[in-house]
Amino acid sequence: MGGIASNLLSVLATLPEGVTLTAVSKFHPVEALMEAYVAGQRVFGESRVQELVAKIPQMPADVRWHFIGHLQTNKVRQVVGRVSMIESVDSERLLDKIDAESAKAGVVTRVLMQLHVAAEETKSGFTPEELLDYFRGRRFESLKATHICGVMGMATNTDDEKRIAEDFESIARVFDTIRTEIAPDLRGFDTVSMGMSHDYPLAVSCGSTMVRVGTGIFGEREY
Ligand SMILES: *Cc1c(COP(=O)(O)O)cnc(C)c1O
Repeated sequence: MGGIASNLLSVLATLPEGVTLTAVSKFHPVEALMEAYVAGQRVFGESRVQELVAKIPQMPADVRWHFIGHLQTNKVRQVVGRVSMIESVDSERLLDKIDAESAKAGVVTRVLMQLHVAAEETKSGFTPEELLDYFRGRRFESLKATHICGVMGMATNTDDEKRIAEDFESIARVFDTIRTEIAPDLRGFDTVSMGMSHDYPLAVSCGSTMVRVGTGIFGEREY
């Protein structure tokens, strides 16, 4: 158990300045989260609404929760106002729902748009073309209570480092195109969340500004 703090510190030690860490705590008990909290970690990532909602009151109030899993529209209301960021907006329908519920609740929700570049069909998100079209059409201008802070993505699950790097480069390229060419006026669009336990150093070298590390800090999950 004492390993969590030292795992956390060794991950942090490898991150260049400007790269932040979302400690992915899904499936781990609050005691494990508290070890990371005591060691200084404040941003925690959860992927299931029920688990997130159960953990929030058990952790100190200054924890910043990131939702990182597939979010069903009928659960948006439970998340809005409680999380610092939803990293996994994978459809316009979900985005519209987040915006409507945030407006109703009188809060602004910060989100990342999830890109699908990996080979697996099971992963969700916008294709690069869909996301570029979304910004070209300036559809974000109709959002009332949602702030799009950047993009999130995952690489193909493979040992082929070349393919992983290509996926991260595609994600970074879409981000850069939006930021510098399509919507340079979009303020606060500055986050590229990519990289997990096994591939975050590569993600950082490809331009990640936010890594999501679970196993590398908390150990294997017991599902
Ligand atoms: C679980 C999860 C992670 C963390 O994965 P590890 O391999 O445990 O670091 C990162 N991102 C997302 C979206 C996840 O669901």
